[in-house]
Amino acid sequence: MRIGVDLGGTKTEAVALGPAGEELARLRVPTPDDGYDSVVRGIADLVAAIEAQAGAQAPAIGPSIGPSIGPSIGPSIGIGIPGSLSPATGRVRNANSTVLIGHALDRDLAAALGRPVRVENDANCFALAEAMAGAGQGAETVFGVILGTGVGGGIVTAGRVLAGRNLIAGEWGHNRLPALSAGEIPGPACYCGRTGCIEAWCSGPALSADHARATGETLDPPAIAARAEAGDPTAQETLERHLGRLARALAGVVNLLDPDLIVLGGGLSNLDHLYHRLPEAMRGHVFSDVFETPVLKNRLGDSAGVIGAAWLWPDEPRTEGGR
Ligand SMILES: [Zn+2]
Repeated sequence: MRIGVDLGGTKTEAVALGPAGEELARLRVPTPDDGYDSVVRGIADLVAAIEAQAGAQAPAIGPSIGPSIGPSIGPSIGIGIPGSLSPATGRVRNANSTVLIGHALDRDLAAALGRPVRVENDANCFALAEAMAGAGQGAETVFGVILGTGVGGGIVTAGRVLAGRNLIAGEWGHNRLPALSAGEIPGPACYCGRTGCIEAWCSGPALSADHARATGETLDPPAIAARAEAGDPTAQETLERHLGRLARALAGVVNLLDPDLIVLGGGLSNLDHLYHRLPEAMRGHVFSDVFETPVLKNRLGDSAGVIGAAWLWPDEPRTEGGR
């Protein structure tokens, strides 16, 4: 059995998966808002609850399958968080759930649960979920893209997250948008302190801001898409600019990583024109005479984070403290 936990700012969800990835149980609770210790205790309680629920529905599989890791018992635990662990300190950084920042969440949870825990950022969990159980099943290398309030990404190859030396692999959103036109210089300011980041051009808020710059009207992305669909030329132009920028940015990923497929998640993944138009828009920016990389919509929707967390331990001997 695998257990995944998706720790969000307001809700924490857990899922228990059987050996073939089948869902045995799922629970969702509010994330405690009274401090870090409560969050840790809340996750430990949630894990205990879902183990009880899944155990009641599934044959006793737990520690009898796969090698044991000494005294610990029970399924492996993966946790997805909106942030990452700093390789320098082992503590959470870059989390918009600020209560986590500065804490060694993996160690604290391992102590609370009595077994090793893996913590991974939510974009990597998204990519892993889609690679193992979603649109990317069967692909060797998957680039999972989050296009939402921010732009993030994760790389999965051979069923594992490629975390990277500095644990930032796949974080393409704070690269600069390439191949700028004169009107795109210097580009919008980004919260990270740079200007012209891919995130500052291609996220949902960035799409709205670009439309507002061009028209003076502030609309959210679904409203812009609806206007474009209804024939509004200014909305269509906004989507064209966004498409072109996203294509340039993703072509850079292809030149570096050349994934077998690209999966889109986050709110903007609901923009259906991206799937019809992106590959052609990318083609001219990819350094290859052949460009056949599919760009697919996610299949797991909001469940990707928790499913990906459950897959953080591959099917192999577990090693204490390994990533
Ligand atoms: Zn940035």
